[in-house]
Amino acid sequence: MPVCAFCGHEFPKHVGILYVSNSGKTYWFCSKRCFKSMIEFKRRPEKFKWTRTYRIRRQKEKAKSAKTG
Ligand SMILES: [Zn+2]
Repeated sequence: MPVCAFCGHEFPKHVGILYVSNSGKTYWFCSKRCFKSMIEFKRRPEKFKWTRTYRIRRQKEKAKSAKTG
């Protein structure tokens, strides 16, 4: 299962979007929302609460009370 380049979630291939940049790099996106956010709006995933990147970042900053999730 590919991992979304924006939100970091895993998803089945048939629902995702594969984007190939001009430099030949490939990005998987789980939804149009993630695709647009990254490619069209050039947003940073750390700024959005619904992304996994955001949660991982916050967990690293806290790094203390990490149980599960
Ligand atoms: Zn996504």
